[in-house]
Amino acid sequence: MIRFLPVGGAGEIGASCFHVDLEGTGIILDAGMHPRKKGADSVPNFNMMNDLPVDAVLISHAHEDHIGSLPYLVQRFPYLRIVATPQTRAIAELTLHNSVSILQEELAEDDPLRPYTHEEIDLLIQSIEYHAYEERFDINSYQNGNNSTVRASFWDAGHVIGSAGILLEHDHHTMFYTGDVKMRNQTLTRGAQIPHMHVDTLLLECTQGAADPSTFLEWEDEAQRFAQLSNDVIEKGGSILIPVFALGKMQEMLAMIWKLMEQGAMVKTDIYTGGIARKICAVYDRNRYVVRRMDKEFEFADVVQRDIFEIERMEELVQHPSIILATSGMMVEGTLSFKLAQHWLNQRHHAIFTVGYMDPDTPGYRIATAQRGKEIQLTDFSQPQQVRCAIERFHFTAHSMRDGLIDIVRRTTPNRVILIHGEPEAIDWMGFSILKDFPGTKVHAAEIGKVIEV
Ligand SMILES: [Zn+2]
Repeated sequence: MIRFLPVGGAGEIGASCFHVDLEGTGIILDAGMHPRKKGADSVPNFNMMNDLPVDAVLISHAHEDHIGSLPYLVQRFPYLRIVATPQTRAIAELTLHNSVSILQEELAEDDPLRPYTHEEIDLLIQSIEYHAYEERFDINSYQNGNNSTVRASFWDAGHVIGSAGILLEHDHHTMFYTGDVKMRNQTLTRGAQIPHMHVDTLLLECTQGAADPSTFLEWEDEAQRFAQLSNDVIEKGGSILIPVFALGKMQEMLAMIWKLMEQGAMVKTDIYTGGIARKICAVYDRNRYVVRRMDKEFEFADVVQRDIFEIERMEELVQHPSIILATSGMMVEGTLSFKLAQHWLNQRHHAIFTVGYMDPDTPGYRIATAQRGKEIQLTDFSQPQQVRCAIERFHFTAHSMRDGLIDIVRRTTPNRVILIHGEPEAIDWMGFSILKDFPGTKVHAAEIGKVIEV
């Protein structure tokens, strides 16, 4: 019997975690942490898997919503085999160590979740087995006298460095999990490699399923628009705040800005970066000949950057024109980009440029959709403040648009598609289009805790 159980990341973009039972072999796809929730609420309910076979966890990429709860999953199932790509493993080592102190600060006294230690993370990272793209590896199960084998492989997902779609091949069933996927090229990362084969079941992410692609420019054209609007701000003496994720968005934006400056399309000005994002840039540099890249010669080590954490007072950032790339990408309360945004909103000459997907429940979304001159409340509990700075929204998504997602269905000709990782509107649109374009295909919207037998 083949059963699929969403443990997290269904019906929303939250803590991705899916359990697959392939005739007795238990495979967990991702172990994410909810980016907006805190403490025990942010971790998927692993108890759902208590009576299920659990042999291995395969991690699609190192974003928090796909890997953040891995230390807790391993506490719960200590003998679990953990597999990822080498780049995901390298980034996990940075981000999981980084979250030790964040969790220590964040977790309330009475929270059932306890922070993990640096020693636990060292052991965890050592135990991650890694495989390059398209290299088949076997997952065996010996539980309950079962000895069936699943062949697994990672496929370049084009989303961030090391990101992978996961193909599971069993005698009677093949399944492909897209993870987070981008079919088109970004500034550095090349578009995804999808297996050209029939699969029985496709687990399809839908982040951008609700967005109408005809209203957006292509990446290169959007980059030119970005350059023009940046020049307008900088030439008037303003500074630009850009909220970014430390993994992916930071590297794509920094590379794009540097290239635009080198080409003369953008006025050269100081660029501020810092923290873990810089360490992740070093992983991009070290792996530049190993992964599929748009420009293998480009190195972040050559990009002149100032360290945002060496600034003593926020005013220094706005004294002369500069570009500030700060985490978090969705300006979650308490993060650096959130604190800077509070200050920026009061500054008439300055600008906030948003560059990617914003969850509707985040301060980042409120800023991206705010209007100059109107009032804004960054959180439900914060004081309203007037928007004095300019706000521009750009579309540099690291996720496939509708046409890319439909293309994945076309290439893999699945009997059954299970829609995951999307807001309800996005899931609805994708479900409707797949039924229309591929008659006979079964389509499911995944729901947490609800088993789908395939
Ligand atoms: Zn991601």
